[in-house]
Amino acid sequence: MSHKLVYFDNNATTAVAPEVLEAMLPYLKEEYGNPSSMYSFAGNAQHAVQKARKQVAALLGATPDEIIFTACGTESDSTAIYSALEAQPSKRHFITTRVEHPAVLAVGQHLETKGCRVTFLGVDGKGRLDIHELEDALSADTALVSIIFANNETGNINPLDKIAALCKKRGVLLHTDAVQAIGKLPVNLAELPVDYLSLSGHKLHAPKGIGALYVRRGTPFRPFLRGGHQEHGRRSGTEAVPSIVALGKACELAAGHIEEENVRVRALRDRLESRIIGLIPDSIINGNPEYRLPGTTNVAFKYIEGEAILLMLNQYNICASSGSACTSGNLEPSHVLRAMGVPFTFAHGSIRLSLGRYNTEEEVDYAVEKLVNIVRRLREISPYRASADEKNAGCDGSCGCCN
Ligand SMILES: *Cc1c(COP(=O)(O)O)cnc(C)c1O
Repeated sequence: MSHKLVYFDNNATTAVAPEVLEAMLPYLKEEYGNPSSMYSFAGNAQHAVQKARKQVAALLGATPDEIIFTACGTESDSTAIYSALEAQPSKRHFITTRVEHPAVLAVGQHLETKGCRVTFLGVDGKGRLDIHELEDALSADTALVSIIFANNETGNINPLDKIAALCKKRGVLLHTDAVQAIGKLPVNLAELPVDYLSLSGHKLHAPKGIGALYVRRGTPFRPFLRGGHQEHGRRSGTEAVPSIVALGKACELAAGHIEEENVRVRALRDRLESRIIGLIPDSIINGNPEYRLPGTTNVAFKYIEGEAILLMLNQYNICASSGSACTSGNLEPSHVLRAMGVPFTFAHGSIRLSLGRYNTEEEVDYAVEKLVNIVRRLREISPYRASADEKNAGCDGSCGCCN
């Protein structure tokens, strides 16, 4: 590789923060006790878990007893959704959106095969939900609404305050997949009446394999994993002490970084984006530029393949993605961009660049320089472009295929 790593894929995963590694190391080495054991040696592990629970709760504006540690964001999502349905057996309707992460989307699709009615709300061209559509979809049979807080592919932020107020007024439980939001946006659950919230450690500089589910006090809950008494019987399995300590530390760090990063990372993203749009013709931003995560941009380049761009960026050791990691290798354009109605000639040429805590201006300028050349080279050999030019030659635009 010709250059040191430029990591612009922070929505896929993040580097473990050095402070986080430092905090968890003792629990991988000498403090290996099982928190459930009676002797005082295990007491250190027990206290470490308690401290981490407080740190996570503090970032969310929650109380420690409302935090359940899980193995990942995916487990938190599944736990919340199946819990709400199991706790209300007479209600068989689930409402979600077409732009969820697969960890929610696939559960919705699975529930349909189990006799539930599932409503997948659509979005407009900027990825925005219509709150009136949600209101119309609510019924006496609705067990749960699950809406992503901030989209992993476009960074779009949903108006959770309005959604939560509506669900509360109608007495319907609300879950949000906040995996991309926590650590990047200030979230205060003391003032935001959601019932369940999922987060994941590896999206905020803790290691992979640790997540948490917030369950508001008094909300119906049924465990997803049964067995021991851990997490007050709400999630069995011996506590992953080192990872839990890491998540706690990562949340404490995020609380301290959130304001500064919202300014600095946003400025980096805006620099990246404005240079791309300024220097590369026929490039557009997918999503809603006004209301997005500070580090995320999803850019579409007309006539070329996002996958080809990513392969060429990789030759310069630049990491980006074409959306959800779960769909890469699949030539269908992302389900999120399809739901937004992004035209075919743009959707295929879309890439996501997600910046974070450790990125620099130098990296942004390096990536822009390479991207300009890559797009130029790919367009020179693009078959789409040739066929679009042919169509355009005798086309009045009414066919819809030339836009
Ligand atoms: C990454 C991600 C998940 C899954 O989290 P894991 O910890 O990897 O299981 C769920 N939802 C969103 C929005 C994500 O970005």
